[in-house]
Amino acid sequence: MTDQLSASATVIVGAGLAGLRTAERLRRLGHTGPVTVVGAEPHLPYDRPPLSKAVLTDPAAERPPLRAEEYAELDLDLRLGTRATGVDLPGRRLLLDGDAVGYDRLVVATGVRPRLPALFAGWGGVRLLRDWEDCVALRSALASARSVVVVGAGVLGCEVAATARGLGLDVTLVERLDQPLSPVLGPVIGGHVAGLHRAAGVRVLCSTEVTGLKGDGRVAGVELADGMVLPADVVVVAVGSTPNTEWLATSGLELADGVVCDNTGRTSDAHVFAAGDVARFPHPWGPGTVRFEHWTGAVDTAHLVAANLFAERPTALSAVPYFWTDQYGLRLQALGLPAPDDELDVVAGSLAEGRFLAHYHRAGTVTGAVAIGMPGPLAKCRGLIGRPRA
Ligand SMILES: Cc1cc2nc3c(=O)[nH]c(=O)nc-3n(C[C@H](O)[C@H](O)[C@H](O)COP(=O)(O)OP(=O)(O)OC[C@H]3O[C@@H](n4cnc5c(N)ncnc54)[C@H](O)[C@@H]3O)c2cc1C
Repeated sequence: MTDQLSASATVIVGAGLAGLRTAERLRRLGHTGPVTVVGAEPHLPYDRPPLSKAVLTDPAAERPPLRAEEYAELDLDLRLGTRATGVDLPGRRLLLDGDAVGYDRLVVATGVRPRLPALFAGWGGVRLLRDWEDCVALRSALASARSVVVVGAGVLGCEVAATARGLGLDVTLVERLDQPLSPVLGPVIGGHVAGLHRAAGVRVLCSTEVTGLKGDGRVAGVELADGMVLPADVVVVAVGSTPNTEWLATSGLELADGVVCDNTGRTSDAHVFAAGDVARFPHPWGPGTVRFEHWTGAVDTAHLVAANLFAERPTALSAVPYFWTDQYGLRLQALGLPAPDDELDVVAGSLAEGRFLAHYHRAGTVTGAVAIGMPGPLAKCRGLIGRPRA
């Protein structure tokens, strides 16, 4: 162990998946110096994916912990219910409300929060889903609802629609684009997912948008661009998210829809790194930058940052992006970063039988892979992404 690893102080902002995995990996790498984790939520870190799935339907389900072992083993200064308010980069101090903590390395892992367009603000019955309190409130709203409108057919919106339908509710999924999930998986897979929802009895309305809400302050209906009014006791807004970076606005760190990093996780300040949903990385195989909002991306970037915080020769992010989503008892898994208009080849199974593996490609390069019900074959595609098509 180097002297630096035993003496240097690390401060992690955000006690979510990326913050916790950074702390765990630092300890595993032999960092014995002080590690402070500052988290705005009052809870120990918990797992978010179950919040749109099983936990949403089971009134007795508790927060799913992210760590089975004792926290004491990690020897963290865990400051829960504490919000970072700023950072003094030259002084290397994280600012808290009325307090400050010095650091040698700072890790920003503050995640994102759901967007709420103005037309939904202030209405009773309108729900978002990101944290435990959102989940408990939505779970209790669904328990007494009859009609649910889910606005936004991205991964989260599709999952909530499937879960609500599983509860026997009347569910409508409204999407501004021509298919669910099309920005991430393209129109063919989007169309397939739309078909799964329709087969389950969900009304899927694409290429339209919500123009207003009906009711007396408590939502009773949702008005669409063509004038159609859908009855609704509950409206779930799942139209994307905003990175939690306001507290860094005057810090001098480079921000651009997230905290801008190089491919080692280092920000525009050499002592500050970023991981998880809030971090913006260079695209691994193309121009521009990307911000992953997936569980595995949070873990991969946390591990990268932990390894690079004190490294003399930092390593670059090489993990292939991956996410999964569970809907109607099926697991869809995807690898890579395909563009919506990349070509798609089904290479095993078929869309018609509902079990398939498909590759995306563009200009002779494999850009991604997607599968339903074929986890093994999908995993084998990892090495193909970013390489010439066979
Ligand atoms: C309902 C739901 C279902 C999901 N399902 C899937 C799935 O099926 N598959 C998949 O791949 N991914 C899924 N995800 C995405 C995955 O959970 C996220 O990518 C992951 O949680 C990101 O971790 P993070 O640590 O970057 O952010 P978070 O988990 O959001 O943690 C960030 C933490 O920082 C705190 N914070 C923010 N600002 C401050 C501040 N100023 N000071 C202190 N603390 C602050 C926040 O309160 C939060 O606790 C899902 C997400 C949600 C919400």
